[in-house]
Amino acid sequence: MSPGSVVVTGANRGIGLGLVKQFVKDKNIRHIIATARDVEKATDLKSINDPRLHVIPLALTCDKSMDKFVSKVGDIVGSDGLNLLVNNAGSAVKYSTKAEPSRAKLVEQFDVNTFSVVILSQKLLPLLTKASSKVSGDELSVSRAAVVTISSGLGSITENTSGSGVIEGLAYRMSKSAVNMFARTFAIDMKDDYILAANFCPGWVQTDMGGKHAALTVEQSTSQLVSSFNKLDKTHNGGYFRNNLTPFQF
Ligand code: NDP
Repeated sequence: MSPGSVVVTGANRGIGLGLVKQFVKDKNIRHIIATARDVEKATDLKSINDPRLHVIPLALTCDKSMDKFVSKVGDIVGSDGLNLLVNNAGSAVKYSTKAEPSRAKLVEQFDVNTFSVVILSQKLLPLLTKASSKVSGDELSVSRAAVVTISSGLGSITENTSGSGVIEGLAYRMSKSAVNMFARTFAIDMKDDYILAANFCPGWVQTDMGGKHAALTVEQSTSQLVSSFNKLDKTHNGGYFRNNLTPFQF
């Protein structure tokens, strides 16, 4: 199952760029909409030569930028609507329990990793609903309508045995746990509209965030991720998965 159209946020580098490269290989996709905060500087992304690729500016924490973006997506996908939103963009603010208390840092972390995911998904709902309504029956898939969010294993409450000290990841962990709750709740709220939601940990990946000693290359992580996205069905709705689609514990 491939989506007819896909949006990938934070696609100028790292996992987002890798996801776009994977989607470009899929000839069934008609529109690949890739976002960058600064399109001028997104040279790697813009060097991908494919007429189906649309590179559009999006600053996730700016509502004006988001509204402009959503309107452009509507123009591109037209009456077909949008099949797949991949909320990939994210940041890792260093913040541990023993850090200097800072409301600003906590808000900054949640604004990018959590609030922006919620708001962008909500603003794209009319386009996702449009795509979903083209299909009859109760099947769920990325070829119908889906919101996939790149979370992190560090958002797992069950598997958190290392606390936040080593990577100063208190705010990051909390923002990813919260975005996991978003996917589960979205899946329940949108069940009757047949829009699927699922969250993924991409693995530990060699990017600016993951560092060069990470276990996986971007190509390894993203090829697995896209293959997993294409296998999603109603049994996965609201779930939280590793890149190979084995379930992660919330
Ligand atoms: P990178 O730091 O390499 O890339 C992050 C991307 O997000 C960039 O495109 C960046 O844009 C964008 N971004 C950050 N803040 C904003 C914002 N306010 N508005 C718009 N775009 C923004 O990270 P990765 O590729 O490694 O991470 C991608 C996702 O995977 C993230 O959600 C991350 O939490 C998750 N993840 C990564 C892991 C890893 O090992 N790498 C492990 C687990 C999860 P810009 O270039 O403009 O800053």
